[in-house]
Amino acid sequence: MRKRVAVIGGGIAGLAAAVRLGDLTPPGTEIIVYEQGGVLGGKLRTGELGGRPVERGAESFLTAGPDGAESAVVTLARHLGLGDALVHPAAVPAALAIGGRLTPVPGGTLVGVPGDLTKLGDVAHVAGADRDEGHPLLAAGDDIAVGELVRARYGDEVVDRLVDPMLGGVYAGRADRLSLEVTMPQLAATARVEHTLQAAVRAAQAARTRAAGPIFTAVDGGMSRLVAAAAAASGARISLGLPVRDLSRTAHGWRLLLGPVPAPQTDDVDAVVLAVPAKPASRLLAGISAEAAEVIGRLDYASVALAAIALPPGTPLPELSGFLVPPSEGTLVKAATFVTRKWPHLGGESGAVIVRASLGRHGEEDRLQLADEDLLLRARRELGDLIGGELPPPVASWIQRWGGGLPQYTPGHHDRVAFARQQLPAGLALAGAAFDGVGIPACVVSGERAAEDVSKSLEE
Ligand SMILES: Cc1cc2nc3c(=O)[nH]c(=O)nc-3n(C[C@H](O)[C@H](O)[C@H](O)COP(=O)(O)OP(=O)(O)OC[C@H]3O[C@@H](n4cnc5c(N)ncnc54)[C@H](O)[C@@H]3O)c2cc1C
Repeated sequence: MRKRVAVIGGGIAGLAAAVRLGDLTPPGTEIIVYEQGGVLGGKLRTGELGGRPVERGAESFLTAGPDGAESAVVTLARHLGLGDALVHPAAVPAALAIGGRLTPVPGGTLVGVPGDLTKLGDVAHVAGADRDEGHPLLAAGDDIAVGELVRARYGDEVVDRLVDPMLGGVYAGRADRLSLEVTMPQLAATARVEHTLQAAVRAAQAARTRAAGPIFTAVDGGMSRLVAAAAAASGARISLGLPVRDLSRTAHGWRLLLGPVPAPQTDDVDAVVLAVPAKPASRLLAGISAEAAEVIGRLDYASVALAAIALPPGTPLPELSGFLVPPSEGTLVKAATFVTRKWPHLGGESGAVIVRASLGRHGEEDRLQLADEDLLLRARRELGDLIGGELPPPVASWIQRWGGGLPQYTPGHHDRVAFARQQLPAGLALAGAAFDGVGIPACVVSGERAAEDVSKSLEE
């Protein structure tokens, strides 16, 4: 009989799952993507500013995977016919804001954790002894918060001025909470062997298979092109605007309850890929495994807002791709990208000069409770202070809010997810940033694996 598979969540993980399902399942299998929003893509959404595409969510992805080969999203983009649309940033450096001034990011660090302490200059002073105490830094199977490890070995300044802004740039979170295993897996691996942090960082750097070429890739025309191409290639039926409210087992598969409470609809399917953030995933799992639901629901999120500002043509900016700001600086701006300088495919700075600032960090949600125009004013003032000159009034601007947008993986996250997965019956697979990592490549791998899992269950 003709099989039916539902993908719940139309972000990149759900769409990667739908594409892989389209490739793996026999012709005639019906794939349905249920997305509660009015558009597909989740945190991938391209907007417009000053006549150019500007990302309202994720801006770029890693070109290479952990093995040095092309990352899963690059492979997916090529599979979707977007190989020629893959573009790279200009080779301009990034800076750190320290003491209200921009200073070059020191070289030779692993997400801010230095392997060569002589390269730190005045950015951070190392305190504390990174002594060999006769055993590895981390016991086998253990996980630790990045901040706990680095503070003990290098002191507070290295965490506050280097690691926090680097991790904050990705997670909007703090080193003192984030899991080493999830955010720096290579360092977690070498910390289980080496006796000092310096040796562990160096071993992790040496083990890294550095692919030649640019580290980051974006899509000419914007991430929404990737989203549209994936949706089209999957052959899936796309349902927009109806949240899935309940998931339950039937004798042979799964029942989805959809739509508003006064007008519920149901859909019976043979298998499900659940590709939504942790809170909705936990709610939908409640009737299937209370333990899995509880463990998944523990994942906390940070809220951020993006302020995109188009400045008049010719507005001078430093020769940088952008900068990161440590939380200790006290600003609401945690990072900024000089979009038109960083991305040459956007046509350079002949037109409006575009700056995109990222505001807010985990635990600072109340600081984002400002009207859009006040957030914009604040962003412009702080950017001007850090750049060293007041910015002119923008010619156009917008604010994009991502309430609960970025997962905060605390130590033990991988074990909790593995436990939750063990509780689930075949035919139901979890995918996305809530489970397998925040980066787009990790979300693609996660979606593809979930598709492989549920397609196997369809054959049984
Ligand atoms: C501001 C920002 C910038 C970022 N920048 C980068 C970057 O430059 N590079 C990078 O690699 N990563 C970046 N990330 C992270 C990355 O974008 C995300 O981790 C990734 O896109 C998440 O994909 P996902 O499919 O797991 O989840 P999501 O994109 O969250 O998609 C989940 C979807 O499920 C839907 N949904 C939820 N509940 C239901 C329900 N009950 N029924 C139906 N649908 C439901 C949601 O509406 C959503 O569309 C950024 C994230 C943010 C917020």
